[in-house]
Amino acid sequence: MKITILTLFPEMYEGFLNTSMIKRIISKDLVEFKIVDIRDYSIDRYRHVDDTPYGGGAGMLMRVDVAHHAILDNATSKTRVLLTSPKGKKYTQEDAKRLVKEEEILILCGHYEGIDSRIEKYCDEMVSIGDYILTGGELASMVISDSIVRLIEESISPESLKEESFEDGLLEYPQYTRPVEYDGEEVPFVLTNGNHKEIRRFNLKNALKETLKYRPEMLEGRVFTPEEEKLLIEIQEESCEE
Ligand code: SAH
Repeated sequence: MKITILTLFPEMYEGFLNTSMIKRIISKDLVEFKIVDIRDYSIDRYRHVDDTPYGGGAGMLMRVDVAHHAILDNATSKTRVLLTSPKGKKYTQEDAKRLVKEEEILILCGHYEGIDSRIEKYCDEMVSIGDYILTGGELASMVISDSIVRLIEESISPESLKEESFEDGLLEYPQYTRPVEYDGEEVPFVLTNGNHKEIRRFNLKNALKETLKYRPEMLEGRVFTPEEEKLLIEIQEESCEE
């Protein structure tokens, strides 16, 4: 898979691409990143890429011709072109799962006041990473590509992915490591006794509990398995006893 990022600040990606899992996956040739400086497509020798908005208003807007030329030079007919924008559809794990199937992705990062609106015509989708305004699309592009890259099959063992938050519509159950007791808090006994059937049931129950507590709306419309139904009744009974 190839991920191309169009940005005015290529230096922001140095740490991102050279650390931990992303670095490892790149070194295994499972993904190729290309970071392109939009300034290379500026229209004058002063390397200008933006201008003041028509009709007034604060700040500078990236020019559509500059951004479009950068897309044309870096995308092919196979490339899925994403425009980072607070106006976009809110990005979720479902999008990561959809996008990991693409052969090539290009992510366009705006800056300052954003990009001339005419750029939307040349993009396949607009993506927002949440309801807040960033100074630029760089962090958004890292969030998007990080979530995609870690899904690349060979990069991570299938077992660890399956039980992660959001993968099965539940938050992840609480996890523990050594020491077995810390500041009066003990690791639940079930997890230390090696009975895998019990451990699975215990974790599923806790995943349901966590989701009910922190993100109950995630359970709306869920079709519960008979086992989950039983566990939910147990959870309800326990909360009545408390
Ligand atoms: N004036 C614009 C905001 C521009 S912010 C508006 O009000 O809609 C500058 C750039 O940061 C945007 O072009 C986009 O690339 C990026 N950006 C800001 N917030 C974002 C968000 N929530 N999700 C994705 N990208 C974002």
